Amino acid sequence: MEESAETKQCFVCQSSGEDRVLLACEQKGEAKWVCVRCLPPLIHEMDGGRH
Ligand SMILES: [Zn+2]
Repeated sequence: MEESAETKQCFVCQSSGEDRVLLACEQKGEAKWVCVRCLPPLIHEMDGGRH
């Protein structure tokens, strides 16, 4: 087991994973973390509003 020295942080709201769940994701080939509260808006955004 190897702990990364990097602090996990939501790339949207910069919240640490201590008070909410963080999910691993990738943006433009970069590994990132996003918290569950910021994920729904992101999904919405990627939808392109084509409704
Ligand atoms: Zn967040």
